[in-house]
Amino acid sequence: MSSISCNLSPLLFDEALALILENDFALALIDVQMPGMDGFETVELMRMDERSRGIAVIFISAIYRDEYHQIKGIEAGAVDFITKPIVPQILHGKVQTFIDLYSYRASLEEEVERRTKAEIAIQEQYQEIEVHAHELEAANDELQEACAKLQELDRMKDSLLSTVSHELRTPLTSIKSFAEILRDYGPDEEEGKEFLSIINDESDRLTRLINDFLDLAKIESGHAEWEIAPVQMPEVIRTSVQATEALVDKMGLSVYVDLEPGLPCVTGDSDRFIQVLTNLISNAAKFTPEGGRISVKVRTVEKSESNGSGGMVRVDVSDTGIGISKSNLEVVFEKFAQVGDTLTAKPQGTGLGLPICKEIVEHYGGRIWVESEVGRGSTFSFVIPTSQQTSLAGCSG
Ligand code: ADP
Repeated sequence: MSSISCNLSPLLFDEALALILENDFALALIDVQMPGMDGFETVELMRMDERSRGIAVIFISAIYRDEYHQIKGIEAGAVDFITKPIVPQILHGKVQTFIDLYSYRASLEEEVERRTKAEIAIQEQYQEIEVHAHELEAANDELQEACAKLQELDRMKDSLLSTVSHELRTPLTSIKSFAEILRDYGPDEEEGKEFLSIINDESDRLTRLINDFLDLAKIESGHAEWEIAPVQMPEVIRTSVQATEALVDKMGLSVYVDLEPGLPCVTGDSDRFIQVLTNLISNAAKFTPEGGRISVKVRTVEKSESNGSGGMVRVDVSDTGIGISKSNLEVVFEKFAQVGDTLTAKPQGTGLGLPICKEIVEHYGGRIWVESEVGRGSTFSFVIPTSQQTSLAGCSG
């Protein structure tokens, strides 16, 4: 509330109106009889304006002293009707009461406004607190999820460590036992050679285990280096068949290669694809009885667009071997899953080859799967996207 002043000097109608339009008034003393508009009409006009509607009015009259006019004045909205002669002390007292009432109302309004503002501010703070509470709840959920994941990873790490130790201990135990027999019992030359050859094989397996495990660990931790270049799949197949030739011959098997002419290049790292093919052909050789057949077939399964994108090259490595039971079809892509071992006296491989193949194929946007029938053989297949840099002439090196 600004200052309150008291103006008891008589004003002409126009002067009074101009003041009313610009200022707030606590009380207006209005003469009933005025030149032009009378007091009753003036109050009617005042009630129509937003600013002057609430001003308390006291009528003053020297002529209209009768009851009729006094009632008319009260009905027009006046709070009092004073007749002349005016007693200044009484008028002053009445005016003072209205000024007090006005300033009390103004301070009440100010207080209401202050409290409303404070309430709005509290509401806003409350809403903010609610938003923070929700954010905290979400962060807490995320933390709990991350914690659960970490605990799961910790459990997986523990179980992996115990599996790795177990896998390493098996060939090591074998090596140590045969070395001890050689040292302590001095077997004959033929037996000695056999034991040394076992030691040699087990050392190889130990080396493969460590290499495969380190390779997989590197891939899984995101530290492997992945080359991305157009790769000629026929070249990959040729190199892989050559690399596995000794094993295939040793097992008394034959390999057939069937390449679709004009194959497009795929995207990836040729060494990594050779690693996949070598592992699949070696597995086929390891799990196929003598006289069996391994075939490697490569073809495009989704025709590439003219710019080379959108195509897939599919590779199938089939064998006529022991096959894999239905329940083990998915398991074989898990770490250390040597499901065929139930059929052999001791583990042949590392159980890490297929998980590595899966990581490589999926890294280059492909998919790997197996179809198999126990006793009839298996087909390991994978698809890899074609390279966008392939020329229309194809990539069949
Ligand atoms: P490894 O061959 O070194 O044991 P892999 O991860 O390459 O490891 O293979 C996992 C297991 O899947 C093998 O031990 C074997 O039991 C099974 N397996 C893989 N390829 C074949 C196949 N062609 N025929 C039958 N079983 C297979």
